[in-house]
Amino acid sequence: MKIAVVGAGAMGSLFGAMLAEVGNEVWLYDVWVEHVNTINKNGLTIEREGRTRTLSIKATTASEQIGPAELVIIFVKSTHTASAAETARKLAGSDGAVLTLQNGMGNADILSEFIDPERVLAGTTSHGATLLGPGSIRHAGIGATTIGAWSETEQGRVRAHKLSDFLTKIGIKTEAVDDVRSVLWNKLLINIGINAITALTAIKNGQILNLETTRELSRHAVEEAIKIAGEMDIKVRGDAVEHVFTVAEATAVNRSSMGQDVDNKRQTEIGTINGFIVREAKRLGLEAPVNETLTALVETLQYHYK
Ligand code: NAD
Repeated sequence: MKIAVVGAGAMGSLFGAMLAEVGNEVWLYDVWVEHVNTINKNGLTIEREGRTRTLSIKATTASEQIGPAELVIIFVKSTHTASAAETARKLAGSDGAVLTLQNGMGNADILSEFIDPERVLAGTTSHGATLLGPGSIRHAGIGATTIGAWSETEQGRVRAHKLSDFLTKIGIKTEAVDDVRSVLWNKLLINIGINAITALTAIKNGQILNLETTRELSRHAVEEAIKIAGEMDIKVRGDAVEHVFTVAEATAVNRSSMGQDVDNKRQTEIGTINGFIVREAKRLGLEAPVNETLTALVETLQYHYK
């Protein structure tokens, strides 16, 4: 299959590598010149559990070099989805599918404004990756991937099932589901309960559980979001708050992705996580004061980066 990855940082490089290693024609597209040049000169280096391998893979900063692809995978941070969608529209040609496995909500909606919604697939992945430097990533964790058709149409479903079969066959264990919105929301709730709090307080995920005050803050943020989900007829798991705590415990020593963004003075994905809840609450005439406060604090923090 001919595949283009738009946003070839930690996750884009990882998925690009996993797809290229089994013989697909993969192109990595990124705006980061040094990263692209390093990959083209020295290959892409992937570290996994202390072992390092180097893969020869095509990378470019000029998307027009790629030509039409059968599958376009979006792995920019959600702050850059609109610009990635414009690129994806050109790359996907008249029939290519576009898949987002980004965190946060709103990415698939943005993609659907640029590309025929029946061709937009969305999902989540439990693979994890860290960018070590130009041309170099760490495969930090392996886990399941879940995808589904954002349009929820029959044609979209067929595409999602075909793609999940393909990914599973080549070693990326993937399940296709009919109600992918619920899957994204369940992941969103975890990010809502962990990311902003850890980013603002410099703590690790597990430390959310150490102090009753922090636990309750996390609980209130998640409960607000659950209420919005209910208003939107989205089914989320019944034990969502407890699940957030379970994830915080299971990833106790990790710094959340938003925490890492703040540590490195990068713009965070707050606008599509807690910020998404604030916008949806307003749209529905509801209030979400905990998420509003968390969003305002993270926005203030990143505005004043030096
Ligand atoms: P990253 O910052 O490592 O990579 C993003 C890349 O996108 C960068 O290389 C950047 O140069 C590039 N980029 C920015 N604007 C672009 C544009 N307009 N066109 C093309 N490329 C552009 O981020 P990441 O950690 O790989 O995360 C990507 C997405 O996946 C995020 O939504 C994140 O939340 C999600 N995610 C990450 C992980 C993880 O373990 N890192 C796991 C699951 C989901």
